[in-house]
Amino acid sequence: MSEPVLVARDLEARFLSHRSLVDTLRRRPSPSVRAVDGISFSVAPGEVLALVGESGCGKTTTGNLLLGLLPLSAGSVRYEGQTLVDMDKRQVAALRRAAQMIFQDPYESLNPRMRVGDIIGEPLRVHHVTDNPDDERARVRHALTQAGLAPAEVYENRFPFELSGGQRQRVVIAAALTLEPRLLVADEPVSMLDVSIRADILNLLRRLATEERIAVVMITHDLATVAAYADRLAVMYLGRIVEIGDTKTILADPQHPYTRALLSVVPTTDPAARQRPQVLSGETPDPSRIPSGCRFHPRCPVAIDACKTIDPGLVTLGPDHEAACILVGSGPVGGRTGTAEA
Ligand code: SF4
Repeated sequence: MSEPVLVARDLEARFLSHRSLVDTLRRRPSPSVRAVDGISFSVAPGEVLALVGESGCGKTTTGNLLLGLLPLSAGSVRYEGQTLVDMDKRQVAALRRAAQMIFQDPYESLNPRMRVGDIIGEPLRVHHVTDNPDDERARVRHALTQAGLAPAEVYENRFPFELSGGQRQRVVIAAALTLEPRLLVADEPVSMLDVSIRADILNLLRRLATEERIAVVMITHDLATVAAYADRLAVMYLGRIVEIGDTKTILADPQHPYTRALLSVVPTTDPAARQRPQVLSGETPDPSRIPSGCRFHPRCPVAIDACKTIDPGLVTLGPDHEAACILVGSGPVGGRTGTAEA
């Protein structure tokens, strides 16, 4: 396995949330929200890692931490051997080129008054990559072609309103590609798109990872949609990774009850693999009031009394498979044992 492009270690993001009226009247301090609570993972060149979980689990906050768009409360992010906090200005600028975010909404990501060629060329000008107009045009056309918008000469003169939703998301991806990134963080890249074109965009990200050796972190609530495109899965619940590993291994033998519940509602054409859907009771708890013990216990269909007091760490179950549940593996039942790195 090649050296990881990205190593995230023990990431934490804590925020102060608004006080309720009762808390204010009683002069209680603002509650602290642990949006991301000590997670670790790595991504290798050419690998697609899917960060999966319900809304509010901390996956988007994690994406923002990875790109330095939010400050870390604790932990570290390392790119190709360089830790984010150690970087000087020149290195931070290089990181801004090397790691690109693809946002959920292609409608909002594009300036409606600019032509596609100018939108895609803008990062080149911002980062002073080239001041030669011919070189810029060649790079823009190459990025358009890489993103599947060919012939590039046709698309570069269009305005965003002249494109379909899928073509707009391809323009967003092309703008990220002009800077030749080593890492793409794609936050719900297809959730705003028509179901019929989602596979095209996911295929494009998969192809960019495989052919260009770009590391891709795909953030999604939709395990069913991304499972076919990701090499590895990291399932998040209330700010923690509860299961991580090789996609095929997890799909074939999910160990954490939360992963099992997510997979039980994934449609399949294989009657042998069809399961009774597990409907989890209740909503994801408020992150400012994380349950004691295993934070999943109020919703877990197989919880036992010990789950109310023991906070399970990740336990290694195989060469690339870890899960955090006291009922799995033979590791210690308490503490946080796994590093979850490839
Ligand atoms: Fe469920 Fe207990 Fe395992 Fe948590 S530790 S996932 S509550 S069985």
